[in-house]
Amino acid sequence: MTQLLYQTDSYMQSFDAVVSAIDEENRAIALDRSAFYPGGGGQPADSGTLEAGGITYTIKRARKMGDDVFHIVEGDAPLPSPGTPVHGQLDWEKRYKLMRTHTAMHVLCGVIFRDYGASVTGGDMDPLQGRMDFEFETMHKDLVQAIEEAINREVAAAHPVKVDILPREQAFQIPDLIRTKINLLPEGIQQVRVVEIVGLDLQADGGTHVANTSEVGRIRVVDYKSKGKINKRIYVEVTG
Ligand SMILES: [Zn+2]
Repeated sequence: MTQLLYQTDSYMQSFDAVVSAIDEENRAIALDRSAFYPGGGGQPADSGTLEAGGITYTIKRARKMGDDVFHIVEGDAPLPSPGTPVHGQLDWEKRYKLMRTHTAMHVLCGVIFRDYGASVTGGDMDPLQGRMDFEFETMHKDLVQAIEEAINREVAAAHPVKVDILPREQAFQIPDLIRTKINLLPEGIQQVRVVEIVGLDLQADGGTHVANTSEVGRIRVVDYKSKGKINKRIYVEVTG
């Protein structure tokens, strides 16, 4: 089981760990602890390097398999044996852009729910761009500017972003979490990680975010599309 270091410190760029398992077929290294985000919830997996036994391995991406995070290796250098100490380093430029983008998505969700009562149904992101789907029947072109102004006002308001890990029963009593489909969480999950933009948005979420909305930069609403009468997809870019 890999300890997920990014869950409690999303700013950790490098870390020490020990190889816990090897997957020769997939050229992947599992560690006892890792700061690499393995992908999920619309946020792409981290890439970077692992140094072990004098070899620097390029990690294409991390991937969760069961309770372990595996780090998928590029090239054909021999893999380190279980028990080998390693030093991990994230591609921080990419990861930090994803943290800003991911937080921008939460600002968008929070504003759209607060101002229009529309719930989010899904989303996807790349560094500095993302898209989110809403049940938002009244969305139309004239709202684009109002939404863009409202989200940038919230970014500028410098809301702190708080992360808590709560027992399942306690998380299920938070009314704001119900609307983000917390009830879809698998039965076996006993702890729920909760990400809150204080005063704006609260979600059950495993991803990485910045600590304050002021780090996001400027958000542009670049496009939107109707995916049926009710479902609307909104596209954003983050700059600055
Ligand atoms: Zn999130």
